[in-house]
Amino acid sequence: MVKVRFAPSPTGFLHIGGARTALFNYMYARSQQGSFVLRVEDTDRSRSREEYLNEITDSLHWLGLDWDEFYKQSDRFDLYREHAKRLLDSGAAYEDNGAVVLKMPRQEVKFFDLIRGEVVFDTSNFVQRDEAGNNLLDSEGRPVLKDEVLIKADGSPAYSFCCVVDDALTEITHVIRGEDHIPNTPKQILMYQALGFKAPKFAHIPMILNEEGGKMSKRTGAVAVSEYRAKGFLPEALVNYLMLLGWSPGGDQELMTLDSAIKKFSIKKINKSSAAFSMDKLRWINGQYVRQKSDQALADFVAPFLEKGGWIGKDYDRKKLEGIVKLYKTRMADIDEFLERTRYLFEDEFKAGEEVLKSANLSGECFSGLARVLEEAAPFNTAAVEARFREFADQRAMKMSDLVHPVRLILTGSDVGPGLFETMEVLGREKTVKRLKSAAEIS
Ligand code: GLU
Repeated sequence: MVKVRFAPSPTGFLHIGGARTALFNYMYARSQQGSFVLRVEDTDRSRSREEYLNEITDSLHWLGLDWDEFYKQSDRFDLYREHAKRLLDSGAAYEDNGAVVLKMPRQEVKFFDLIRGEVVFDTSNFVQRDEAGNNLLDSEGRPVLKDEVLIKADGSPAYSFCCVVDDALTEITHVIRGEDHIPNTPKQILMYQALGFKAPKFAHIPMILNEEGGKMSKRTGAVAVSEYRAKGFLPEALVNYLMLLGWSPGGDQELMTLDSAIKKFSIKKINKSSAAFSMDKLRWINGQYVRQKSDQALADFVAPFLEKGGWIGKDYDRKKLEGIVKLYKTRMADIDEFLERTRYLFEDEFKAGEEVLKSANLSGECFSGLARVLEEAAPFNTAAVEARFREFADQRAMKMSDLVHPVRLILTGSDVGPGLFETMEVLGREKTVKRLKSAAEIS
């Protein structure tokens, strides 16, 4: 049975790269009816934090990547020491000032990476250097190899060793992880050999680069999954986007639910070259998922953001909010855009800027006449408002377009948006009339 693991260190938030590694492991496990393990690599007690662990598990849950088994390395120190002792007993390792160190043999280490093919390492590249950076040489003039610490002098086990002991004991069949771990792999293979364990299969996934082709970092944009969550991205959209970073089901299909992608997933289809993060593409995908949501579900989703921004209170008008999301769901890629575009609907003291007023170019008398007519439209819904509006235009022999454009500007501050009469309905009588009256005063 296939068994894979995602092994985050709780020394920081779950970032986009880690989430993609988790996702590929999850997809592979599910595609093979295998098992997905969450292993917390918290052996570095000084840098590991409970709050990071909580954030990582929250983010994984939010993305829908649920695990079948969970354990922390900090609960297993005895096990690592026991295995280090085995290596001391067999002579593969030695003690050095309380540390347990694996002797580095001089040999070639080969492994077959499921993504990159054969990888060959010569351990003579693991050389010891002096302070000046020169290779240390032995009595025969050969470079002295750098032995590998298994248990540090303070008794805490080293990352690579825990990784090997755990992967072996928990019978992990495939290690799918970032390609930054390739240099660790030959050392880990030597540990498997020394312990008499069979090594798992390896698949090293290429890095994700930022839009400028550099390493993804806080400086160049959001890196933590929780930041995307806070910005109002939908988890299913982020998952859909992440799966395309280095994998494709073939063809040009891009929109896929996790379940349908799992049916098509194979490690062989993971690219060898690095993937570039694109905010535009993520926003596009998010927008596609937004428009598939029902008005009710989308209202549930946006309400906390509006509350947090102080735009609505706890007792907000639910029907009205559903009306708003219905109008805007094809016009928003993400919550930021939704908030920006619908702000005018929530603001009490909204005033169109002078520029806007100038381009509205309608007489004050006309605005106030319209305000009077709409004050009496009953009920204040799209159909009634439109009927009053048309009557008003007819009476003055004005073209609808000459009226619609300036009124939209006055009410919304923008010359694009959903239909004016639908907009008025969600804006409501009070705000509509007030804005027209204040435009009348200034014009
Ligand atoms: N804890 C390691 C990391 O966060 C993962 C190591 C592994 O997957 O083998 O990069």
